Amino acid sequence: MADALAHPAVVQLRGVRKAYNVGEAFETEVLHGIDLTVRHGEFCAVVGPSGSGKSTLLNIIGLLDRPTSGTVEVCGAQTTTLHDRALTQLRGHNIGFVFQYHHLITAFTALENVMMPMLGAEEFASAAMRSRAEGLIDSVGLTHWKDNGAGKLSGGQQQRVAIARALVMGPALLLADEPTGNLDTKSADEVFALLRRFNEEHGTTVLFVTHNVAMSERCDRIIEVIDGRVTA
Ligand code: ADP
Repeated sequence: MADALAHPAVVQLRGVRKAYNVGEAFETEVLHGIDLTVRHGEFCAVVGPSGSGKSTLLNIIGLLDRPTSGTVEVCGAQTTTLHDRALTQLRGHNIGFVFQYHHLITAFTALENVMMPMLGAEEFASAAMRSRAEGLIDSVGLTHWKDNGAGKLSGGQQQRVAIARALVMGPALLLADEPTGNLDTKSADEVFALLRRFNEEHGTTVLFVTHNVAMSERCDRIIEVIDGRVTA
């Protein structure tokens, strides 16, 4: 524990509330004042029943959505007062996303999909972009499939491309919302092992939403969300 506390916070939420349809007759609060700190290098499972607020929480941590009240600090930046453009920049450079459905562009190759997040980033020349994306394709075990259309890959392979794409900008934080939910057991295990490996080798902090109890028990920490509150 003393060790964990020595690491800086990558995510710090204080009193985060989120309501939908604010000001309308059917306004509903789905997050009820969440305090949460996740430190550099932690590999956390996020568990809880459907509808308890896990995706809402991940969207707020991932700066895809803003809380109704409370503060969100990500990678050392206090985000409350940031405008959308600054949020987009912070997100693009620090946060990778993997979802249950891979959201690849199926008409593009695996390699082109992985290169996609770098296209708007000024720091990469095109040769560097390509070699970086190729390195990630190699590390997710898809060297021989890199020029295949993404639509022609299996579900597990597509999810591995999505992981390579999420990691290509070298994010400090990876948010994975049920990335194994749609996969057979073997592919799910491979995807889990891949995320774990990046966490151990690069210190990438991972928040991993899962309904799989065995997988959650293999994480460093379990964050349980019940009825819009973090209970454990
Ligand atoms: P989980 O990921 O744990 O299944 P969600 O965060 O998706 O839970 O949803 C939490 C609650 O918020 C649910 O009751 C859901 O219906 C509601 N909700 C999610 N998104 C919206 C939205 N855009 N508008 C209104 N209600 C929403």
